Amino acid sequence: MTLHIHTPLIESRPLSLAAGRNVWLKLEALQPCGSFKLRGVGHACEVHHARGARHFVSSSGGNAGLAVAYAGRKLGVPVTVVVPETTTERAKELLRLEDAQVVVHGSSWQEANALAQTLVGPGDAFIHPFDDPLLWAGHASLVDEVAEAGVRPDAVVLSVGGGGLLSGVVEGLQRNGWSDVPVLAVETEGAASLHAAMQAGHSVELERIASVATSLGAKRVADQALVCVQQHPVHSHLVSDRAALEACERFLRDHRVLVEPACGAALALAYAPGALAQYQNVLVVVCGGATATLEQIQAWLKQVD
Ligand SMILES: *Cc1c(COP(=O)(O)O)cnc(C)c1O
Repeated sequence: MTLHIHTPLIESRPLSLAAGRNVWLKLEALQPCGSFKLRGVGHACEVHHARGARHFVSSSGGNAGLAVAYAGRKLGVPVTVVVPETTTERAKELLRLEDAQVVVHGSSWQEANALAQTLVGPGDAFIHPFDDPLLWAGHASLVDEVAEAGVRPDAVVLSVGGGGLLSGVVEGLQRNGWSDVPVLAVETEGAASLHAAMQAGHSVELERIASVATSLGAKRVADQALVCVQQHPVHSHLVSDRAALEACERFLRDHRVLVEPACGAALALAYAPGALAQYQNVLVVVCGGATATLEQIQAWLKQVD
């Protein structure tokens, strides 16, 4: 038994027609807490639980925090999530629905995270949102499921925030003998920490995040993301906030699934005419995201240029 579920793998007719290629979707949006995060976070929480952890601490007001809250509730382990004041009411409400104790502290994630660290007592486990080998091992299971289904993609499209999903998918590709299958790593222009690191040749810290794709808002990627880029074919792509938002709306119409702009970024590349022309069978990781509402996406679309 795992905390995450096996998600559907479907061939998307609308996306295949848009791309002129066979586009496969791994529907991580259907995980019980709305995103792929449960794969890695669930695995990490299970390992810590088996080692006797009695309390989980997270500092993510987004999908990582939600996954910790869900995992804790399922395992009977209390969860504290420290979030900054900027966290939306919706996100706090979702965390409370999972019975997490929500502590609001500070004006930035850095401040919330600093307080969270002080709450990690002996025997407690802090669950990082993207920088932990336990997470990558858990995320890799999504590639195992694709291999078990007998589908061999010749490219994988995914979104990058801190690079945990990228690290896990690369681990999964390599352990299934698919070391030659390139990853198209998509970020929004205002949250392009992997792109900046690839250009510099080392990890760099962005001065600020300026994107509606809040789940991609890591100022610096995990070092492992750079290891992946060196050891595996990874191509960086950037899309605008507008393209990510329009992809959310279009995907809702096409597949009746609402995702965050963070996921819309990957979808935007798949919808972009010609972007997948080099490939025949493309796997898109529909990473999901639970914190966006349709009203929010429509309001953002009026704001962005
Ligand atoms: C966390 C998250 C991402 C980015 O994942 P990283 O592991 O931080 O790169 C993308 N989309 C959604 C919906 C997420 O929750």
